[in-house]
Amino acid sequence: MSILSIENLCKNYGRVQALKGVSFSVAKGTVFGILGPNGSGKTTMLGIIMDILQPTSGTYKLFDEQPDETSRRKIGTFLETPNFYHYLSAQKNLEIAAALKERGANDIPRVLELVNLTQRKDSRFSTYSLGMKQRLAIASCLLGDPEVLILDEPTNGLDPVGIAEIRQLIKQLHQQGKTIIMASHLLDEVEKVCTHVAILKKGELVVTGDVNEILANEDIVEIGATDIQQLETIIGTLHGYSNKKIQDKMIQLFYPVGTTDVESINRHCFNNGITLNHLQLKKKSLEAKFFELTN
Ligand code: ADP
Ligand code: MG
Repeated sequence: MSILSIENLCKNYGRVQALKGVSFSVAKGTVFGILGPNGSGKTTMLGIIMDILQPTSGTYKLFDEQPDETSRRKIGTFLETPNFYHYLSAQKNLEIAAALKERGANDIPRVLELVNLTQRKDSRFSTYSLGMKQRLAIASCLLGDPEVLILDEPTNGLDPVGIAEIRQLIKQLHQQGKTIIMASHLLDEVEKVCTHVAILKKGELVVTGDVNEILANEDIVEIGATDIQQLETIIGTLHGYSNKKIQDKMIQLFYPVGTTDVESINRHCFNNGITLNHLQLKKKSLEAKFFELTN
């Protein structure tokens, strides 16, 4: 099942094209990072999904269906800045949040425990560190145990300890089976926390997929021929690749980034009597992708 699928989403703010036809989908149980530099359209996209903004064109589905109030209730988010009362305790603030959301009134001890604030639940919000405030915001999202969380730059402004705590919490929620969609401008963060990624650049999708695959510091060349066995034999005498894999009647050759020479692969096959019916350079490292996008 797909948790979210967006199709050709566009958003203009007057003349500014914040999203220029973005499509991707988020599978259940993933930690999905929307990665891009400031101004690439991440918050706009999340705002559309949560019905805070209207798209200019394009569509999206939640849980494979047209989005409505019921589907959005399965999503916890703090996109709209959480309004906590500074002079009230965490406990009291969560009681108010639960009342406003009309969910999770009985869930407060559980969410406090999850974000490790049980000991401090009766302290005033104003005495909290930034990291604790952010954890309380996540606790508020978790009220009523939604199966999906949408977080916009969840570690922004935190110190290293606060950052580590939030990342740990996200991983823990993932292990419990939650799907988490999070925007980030930090490659490092997506690398550490996310299982999947969509990279945005100036409102356009650069690439989407499994972080490990996109991250793999290797280029992959996929080749195919009518006689796949003969192709495999011939590849045995080709040099330069570090690994090979046969998949769906294709052979994937793995090369250290930047060492791939597609022409010489083609020539090698041709010289050995095989005409390729498929030849594709598939993936670059996330580092390289990110370099492309930020430069
Ligand atoms: P990100 O979250 O990736 O930093 P945003 O979605 O906030 O990106 O912004 C994408 C683009 O849209 C930017 O160029 C930004 O200046 C512009 N933008 C965002 N919100 C508004 C708005 N309310 N009015 C006009 N332009 C906006
Ligand atoms: Mg943003």
